[in-house]
Amino acid sequence: MTTAMMKAMVFEGPGQPLRACERPMPVPEGPDLLLEVCACGVCRTDLHFADGEVYARYPVIPGHEIVGRVIAMGEQATGFTLGDRVGVPWLGRSCGTSPYCCSGRENLCDDPVYTGATRDGGYASHVIADSRFCLSIPDVYGDVEAAPLLCAGLIGYRALVTAGEAKVLGLYGFGGAAHIVAQVAIWQGRSVHAFTRPGDIAAQAFARSLGCVEAIDSDQLPAALLDAAIIFAPAGPLVPLALKAVRKGGRVVCAGIHMSEIPAFPYADLWEERSIVSIANLTRSDGREFLALAPQVPVHAHVSRVALGDAGEALQALRDGRFQGAAVLVP
Ligand SMILES: [Zn+2]
Ligand SMILES: [Zn+2]
Repeated sequence: MTTAMMKAMVFEGPGQPLRACERPMPVPEGPDLLLEVCACGVCRTDLHFADGEVYARYPVIPGHEIVGRVIAMGEQATGFTLGDRVGVPWLGRSCGTSPYCCSGRENLCDDPVYTGATRDGGYASHVIADSRFCLSIPDVYGDVEAAPLLCAGLIGYRALVTAGEAKVLGLYGFGGAAHIVAQVAIWQGRSVHAFTRPGDIAAQAFARSLGCVEAIDSDQLPAALLDAAIIFAPAGPLVPLALKAVRKGGRVVCAGIHMSEIPAFPYADLWEERSIVSIANLTRSDGREFLALAPQVPVHAHVSRVALGDAGEALQALRDGRFQGAAVLVP
């Protein structure tokens, strides 16, 4: 008898390149599901593992925007059945007992499991996921198109909610998350200003094509002061730039898991009740809310399909800013 095997791309350690490997097929236990991976999005966070900037348990299979089909179930698995299509986001599990879990903030859990970081993720043909933290994917979306909704979409959505009622909204870094958040924000009647790497004409044209009223270099000031700004790019110098672009009482939301150092800036730029806040992870209710909202807009993720074995090249292209929208791996 031969053992069933799965294919995967693995980070062996911080700062190391992805490597293709084969592993024995895992068996789901307890509340877990075994999924056949249909598609998995490539997120900026995965590049932070390549650079050793965000903690992971090595060796690790990255990937936390997973669309998969249930092919086996642990005895305590709930909510799904064999053959169901499910989404697996970054929050793979929370403890359920920490003060944060008990107060509706499982995104800040003291003992969490993160998909593709402290548990193997979806850069693979198969993956294990806790059924209690999986999400249902709206039928209107294909597998590849749905994948970016699971991190870029729903963490972007958490950032948008945190930005508050802002009618005039700035988005710094116009990639996977921003191009989805822009669609939601415009549908909500907000005026959206996009800020890209200086000289990134292609990203600026892409932002305008989605309905952004202005798309300019990130070191420029917008035509109108912003009520709030969300920073998706992992570049600390954007924080003081965004603070200068928001009006009195304005909020700057940092949506990334990692950022380079924030340069010093004069207190006058923060004065008059401007604020800086960060977004961490997601809750299951963020996921359910966003996936209910997305088909109403309707959000349409712009995706580039990439073969699983080319994941390393996809990460490099993401680093270079060569994707418009999001890259999605297909096994
Ligand atoms: Zn992500
Ligand atoms: Zn907890």
